[in-house]
Amino acid sequence: MAPKYWNEECERISRTDLEQLQLKRLRKTVDRALQTPFYKRRLAKAGIRSGNDIRNLGDCEKIPYTTKDDLRQAYPDGLLAVDRDEVVRLHTSSGTTGTPTVIYHTGNDLENWTELLARCILATGASHKDVFQNMMTYGMFTGGLGLHYGAEKVGMMTIPIGGGNTVRQLNLMRDFQSTVLHITPSYMLHIHSAMEAEGYSLEDLNLKKAYMGGEPYSESTRRKIEEIYNIDAYNSYGLSEMNGPGIAFECEEKNGMHIWEDSFIVELRDPSTGEELGPGEKGELVMTTLCREATPILRYRTGDITSLMGGECPCGRTHRRIERITGRLDDMLIVNGVNIYPSQIEAVLMKIPEVGTNYQIVVENKGAIDKLTVKSEIYAKLFSGDTRQLESIRESIKDRLKSSIIINAAVELHEPGGLPVFEGKAKRVIDKRSEG
Ligand code: AMP
Ligand code: ZN
Repeated sequence: MAPKYWNEECERISRTDLEQLQLKRLRKTVDRALQTPFYKRRLAKAGIRSGNDIRNLGDCEKIPYTTKDDLRQAYPDGLLAVDRDEVVRLHTSSGTTGTPTVIYHTGNDLENWTELLARCILATGASHKDVFQNMMTYGMFTGGLGLHYGAEKVGMMTIPIGGGNTVRQLNLMRDFQSTVLHITPSYMLHIHSAMEAEGYSLEDLNLKKAYMGGEPYSESTRRKIEEIYNIDAYNSYGLSEMNGPGIAFECEEKNGMHIWEDSFIVELRDPSTGEELGPGEKGELVMTTLCREATPILRYRTGDITSLMGGECPCGRTHRRIERITGRLDDMLIVNGVNIYPSQIEAVLMKIPEVGTNYQIVVENKGAIDKLTVKSEIYAKLFSGDTRQLESIRESIKDRLKSSIIINAAVELHEPGGLPVFEGKAKRVIDKRSEG
């Protein structure tokens, strides 16, 4: 039998001990945060000059929220709490608008992150006997590397292929009899249609589990995937500000994701009133790191909408669970697992001299794959009849979108006035995926 827990003592800690540990770590985190120019200023305004000013967990409320915008403004080192010499890795967001965000990690930070993933992996019943095919993108995106180290820590044979290249993925699954996949749900759906086209059957493969995350998806998508592959699919939630994957993960019960509360303080808040929400009430997830050395982050507004679940989980883990994330507060689009803000598209478009003043973004579902179309108005004089010139503008927009936001968008050119005009707030994004 595979061991059920990676770190039983911590995973089954009593709530009283957990809260004591959280308080101790929160004080330390505040002291660390005070080493950064950003928090020094921010916390002074709130009257917090040392971790000792936090007397109990309730005092967490005194700490101001941190937002994505704060992280952008603190770029590149306004939130660095250790000497640069102590940093062993960093991850940045794509930041095509010129304002990326950065998260630094010390060796201890990476070890702690890896520990959380080892816990998640064992919670799904996997073990060192499994063959792990990591189909999430490696590199600056935290999805690939995050789970990679956890899988190696557990001792699984790890195949670091990353995203894309479907036929090769299938060949590897067959040749090495991969049992556990890490993948976005949309790619998982796509792989199935490719399997049929490439003449693969389930008998050629040895799939048992998939860890699916990186984008919101419904319970019915999970069920569908479980049925068509005859596997167990586990929801995996994370965000780079809090590390990446491994923040919250489903156990074998597949009923909500345990969120590791020895490493994070979790709050559910009403996004408009700030009121604290109880179990079952939907709101924004707010998180505080408790073990981070290089980039401690206090009360981060994730923008993700979920709720805390009440009651105990039969698996014995005492860390609370969150429900499936239903969406985001802001307007971020997730297209085939890649996060894109409309403002990133706008930033690319507006740098191109031929582009006019109006544009529209359309996202739709073509089979299992999302299709993104950028409709852009260009100046009237360019519609003089030279189709080759139009084609070259179209290609140039497409290429620039691809190189800065790493997405293959279809581009349509429109004459001025060809797209809807708004006199108040514009609705530039038409997301047809949510209409069906
Ligand atoms: P990134 O920081 O680029 O990895 O993006 C993190 C964001 O992806 C989160 O804040 C969520 O909005 C979304 N996300 C990640 N995993 C999930 C999941 N399992 N379900 C829903 N949304 C997710
Ligand atoms: Zn559980």
